Amino acid sequence: MSIQSHIAFLRETVPSGVTLVAVSKFHPAEVVREAYDAGLRVFGESRVQELIVKKDQLPEDIEWHFIGSLQRNKVKQIAPFISLIHSLDNERLMQEIEKQGAANSRIISCLLQLHIAEEDTKSGFSPDECRSFLREGNWKACPHVRIVGVMGMATYTDNERQVRKEFHLLKSLFEEFKTGYFPDDPAFREISMGMTGDYPLAIEEGSTMIRIGTLIFGDR
Ligand SMILES: *Cc1c(COP(=O)(O)O)cnc(C)c1O
Repeated sequence: MSIQSHIAFLRETVPSGVTLVAVSKFHPAEVVREAYDAGLRVFGESRVQELIVKKDQLPEDIEWHFIGSLQRNKVKQIAPFISLIHSLDNERLMQEIEKQGAANSRIISCLLQLHIAEEDTKSGFSPDECRSFLREGNWKACPHVRIVGVMGMATYTDNERQVRKEFHLLKSLFEEFKTGYFPDDPAFREISMGMTGDYPLAIEEGSTMIRIGTLIFGDR
C-alpha cells in the first residue's frame, strides 16, 4: 500500500472534527513531500535538529507540530515558526517558550503533556503536578504562550481496557482544567491522543487530534 492510499483510508475513517497530525520523524523530506502532495498540511516531528533541516526542504505552508521532549536550549530554533508544541511539561520550559515567543513577536500554542500511562517515562506532568502548575498560575503572566489543551500517550499494550482507561483519564483531566481555568477560552479545546496502534480507541474516548506515523509512512 502506498502513502496516498493510507492517507485516503484515514480520510475516510477519521471523523472530520479530529485533526490528523502526520508524524514524519525519521522519514526524509521526499517522503514527507508525498504526503504533502496527497493533501496533508500538518506534520509532527520529535527532534529539533531533524525538524529544522526538513522544514527548509519542504513547502512554507506546512503547519509543524513539535511532539517530542523539548530541551529549553532548543526552543529558540523552533520559536519562529512552530504551530503547536505538544510537550509542555514544566514551568521552566514554559518560561523559555514565553521568552522566545516574545523575541519573535509570536504567541506560541502549547499542550500540557500529561503522564497517563502505567509505563515509567520521564516526560509529562503527573496529574497533580499539572494541577499545581495551573493553580500557581504563572502561565497567566505569559502572554506569548497559549495553552490550548492536553496531550498524552497511553501504555504500549494490547490490553484495550488499560488503554481506554488512560485515554479516559486524559479526557477527564481536560474537562477538569477546562472548567477550572479555561471556561471562557474557546482556544482551550484540544485533546491530543492516539497513535497508529491505538487511535480508534482514542477517538472513541474523545480525542481531537491524533498523531499518526507508522500507518502513513510505514516502519521507521
Ligand atoms: C512517534 C510518535 C508518534 C507516532 O507513532 P506511530 O505509532 O508511528 O503512529 C506519536 N506521538 C509521539 C509523541 C511520537 O513520538
